[in-house]
Amino acid sequence: MDSKLLDQVVSVLASSNNTVVVTGAGISTEAGIPDFRGEKGIYRTMGEDRVMSIINISTFQRDPKRFYEFYRQVFDFPPVEPSLAHKMLADMEKKGRVKAVVTQNIDGLHEKAGSKNVIAVHGNADRFICTRRRCGKYYSSDLVREIKEIVPECPECGGILKPDVVLFGEPIQGYIDARERIMAARVLVVIGSSLTVYPLAGFVKEFSTFYQDLIIINKGPTHMDHAALVKIEVGDSSTGKILQEIDRRLG
Ligand code: NAD
Repeated sequence: MDSKLLDQVVSVLASSNNTVVVTGAGISTEAGIPDFRGEKGIYRTMGEDRVMSIINISTFQRDPKRFYEFYRQVFDFPPVEPSLAHKMLADMEKKGRVKAVVTQNIDGLHEKAGSKNVIAVHGNADRFICTRRRCGKYYSSDLVREIKEIVPECPECGGILKPDVVLFGEPIQGYIDARERIMAARVLVVIGSSLTVYPLAGFVKEFSTFYQDLIIINKGPTHMDHAALVKIEVGDSSTGKILQEIDRRLG
């Protein structure tokens, strides 16, 4: 950990009354869920085009069996606990140091760690929704896991169930809220995202065009490193320990 960079982050955060955090898959690797673009991510092992050709709304509608064969292998996350990083963000929210978390993650770990003000723009993999509009009932992933058929059907009406996550080709959830939160921030901290996925990456870009206080904490490069006031490279340390140290120095 570079102590001088941490001091810089602490002085920026200490003078902020509205710090918003944007998180991506990298914050959950420390909880045991692999990211997409990191070393072991599926974009590296399977190829981005192949993944995108399956995890999209038209494949789901045309060929739900193909969709689910893949989805159940890759996105049926094992039950994991929030990492230290998730817990630190929840704790910092309680202390008033973080106002909101806008996340691309679908694992629900921020909420599980106790964060209250979370905008999950890609939805939540823990929930499924019946695609028959007149029904529209929600089910837990635990219940869906018990369904033996590859394509799960609604126990009430027989409609196909869809994971409550945003597939390629679908609009994100909470677009206006997420953008407003980010643009109103005094300081924006991005954690564990390569900032490749739009529109969230676009919001971060827009923020940095108007304001300077962008902090990035990531393992490896991101698309916005050049615009960051401070970039903390996670390296051999962990994001959880870095956040813990920042919180300690904030006193
Ligand atoms: P990404 O895979 O594009 O980028 C993750 C970044 O985090 C990479 O730069 C990686 O090097 C970095 N990273 C890995 N471990 C880290 C650590 N311990 N600390 C800090 N940084 C670390 O992720 P993304 O930008 O969020 O986009 C991927 C898309 O895939 C998103 O849309 C997301 O919805 C989805 N996704 C979600 C999950 C999840 O919910 N946990 C997991 C995989 C993918």
